[in-house]
Amino acid sequence: MPAPSELKARATAAVTASRHEILALSHAIHADPEPAFEEHRAAVRVAEAIAGHGYAVEHPAGRLPTAVRGRLTGELGPDGPRIGILAEYDALPGLGHGCGHNTMAASGVGAAIALAAVRDSFAGEVVFLGTPAEERGSGKQFMLEDGLFDGLDAALLFHPADRDMVNCALLASEDVDVAFAGKAAHAASEPWEGRNALDAVVLLLQAIGLWRQQLPQHARVHGIVMEGGTAANIIPDRATARFMIRSTDQVYFESMRERFRALVAGAAMMADVTGEVIFSGGSTTMKDSRTLAGLWRANMEAMGRVDEGVDPEHIGSSDMGNVSLVLPTIHPSLAICDHGVAWHSVESLQAAATPRADETTLLAASLVARTALDLLVDPALVATAWEEFRGAPGRGSLG
Ligand SMILES: [Zn+2]
Ligand SMILES: [Zn+2]
Repeated sequence: MPAPSELKARATAAVTASRHEILALSHAIHADPEPAFEEHRAAVRVAEAIAGHGYAVEHPAGRLPTAVRGRLTGELGPDGPRIGILAEYDALPGLGHGCGHNTMAASGVGAAIALAAVRDSFAGEVVFLGTPAEERGSGKQFMLEDGLFDGLDAALLFHPADRDMVNCALLASEDVDVAFAGKAAHAASEPWEGRNALDAVVLLLQAIGLWRQQLPQHARVHGIVMEGGTAANIIPDRATARFMIRSTDQVYFESMRERFRALVAGAAMMADVTGEVIFSGGSTTMKDSRTLAGLWRANMEAMGRVDEGVDPEHIGSSDMGNVSLVLPTIHPSLAICDHGVAWHSVESLQAAATPRADETTLLAASLVARTALDLLVDPALVATAWEEFRGAPGRGSLG
């Protein structure tokens, strides 16, 4: 059995050897953005890439057409840790890869390639999961329900950022679709016959604006109008809007749903229309695995990077939170640009395809593979991670 350091060096060498393939994938996905649940071409690219390195691929995996699972068993046998290597690839509608998920797809594939290259040296299984719909809809929650995380001992996923962060803070979040139904009428000749669905959206936006006065610092609510009528001379009989509610406090977050529902009911009543609220997919706060985070930190420092810590001013949401409540999980970030670059912006979109982003993508592939190897060659670490996860007393964590 080679020493872990030798194995890790081989894994990094495999990333370097596949550098062109990994970065071509990142750039191809960046240039061809597809929104949540519609990442058809990206999913094919990812599935073909890991199949080419020996993974047994299921695509689709579970109910989502753009979910991918690839499995690879170590040559020392199937009995051992089962480590999940995740990859996201959805883009933002109207913007593209302003969240840099192209780098996540490519680094996940890169880590899978690296682990395939050292499969002669571990027992257990590497499970690659291509996870759709992070930006909207919480695709990982569907994959959890479809059993695609069953039996896994760890889930590892890098995210690009403007700084290096081992830990991950997340706001609980939910997508909320609202539809108001009224009655159409000629807006000039008989407006009194109509009931204006758009009025209810206007009233709802006002109510939410006033609600914000009373929201604690850890809560957010924001949204857009999707449909506001079809012609200026028709009283709109249908108007729809899409919102997100969020909080770092899971208990408070639950109370936001009821308040939001009441605001929609009030707006509908005032406009004399009917209102429907659909809570269409949520993500939770994050439970970081200290054990896995400790391994990541050590690997990162060995490759010359330093944890800059979570920036409490800039917290988003991710369905990695949902995963983190089911099994030991980390969602560390690495910088692809300088501090202060706004995320979900044209600046972050451009940052996701620079030479600096490319080097970070390769580093992330290496670090995911190295952290997975720590676990694959030392099942005691997996046991420690589970004990910590379950809150069992006894052994301490590394983090
Ligand atoms: Zn993202
Ligand atoms: Zn994002």
